[in-house]
Amino acid sequence: MKLILFGPPGAGKGTQAKIIEEKFNIVQLSTGDMLRSVVASGSDLGNQFKALMDEGKFIPDDLMIEMISDRIAQDDCANGFILDGFPRTLPQAEALDKMFAEKGYQFDAIIEIKVDEAILVDRIKARAAETGGERSDDNEETLRKRLAVYHDLTAPVLPYYEAKNMLRTVDGMQPIDQVSSEIMRLIEK
Ligand code: AMP
Repeated sequence: MKLILFGPPGAGKGTQAKIIEEKFNIVQLSTGDMLRSVVASGSDLGNQFKALMDEGKFIPDDLMIEMISDRIAQDDCANGFILDGFPRTLPQAEALDKMFAEKGYQFDAIIEIKVDEAILVDRIKARAAETGGERSDDNEETLRKRLAVYHDLTAPVLPYYEAKNMLRTVDGMQPIDQVSSEIMRLIEK
């Protein structure tokens, strides 16, 4: 099973990906988590990533494409995976299509978690409190930048999948378990 979850920061992609991961025994591929582990290593590359992430900016497409291409080739992805945070730009979506074509893979579902953006500031503040400020990009100023980048670069990816009649939308304003049952319904269709 191969899935993509879309949604602005704070939409609940990570939360839903974890629920799906457990239910279907597939792996969650969070590019944000992968990048944060490079940052935690304290390497030069990690420091460069951190500077971009703290500004709400994206890591260059070629690096992200290589990161995902390497990751989906690993053994634990054989049973399937959920992409959480990738693709985030049109070039990433096009590169992913190419990888899938080469491997003979198909998506089972591409899902957008739609939320009213007015609530995102509160959600991100709640996450910052819950995680003890572990993510230095979880603050109002960076969130606003991340949202602007989401609109500029990621929102155009949605019509790309819509045109292929692959995109499904769930209402992310509902409680977590209702969002996940809607997602399950879409996946099992
Ligand atoms: P996330 O945990 O998904 O919210 O990602 C945190 C940050 O990592 C983003 O704000 C970006 O700076 C960076 N990032 C994650 N995924 C990507 C991607 N696919 N392309 C570029 N930058 C990314």
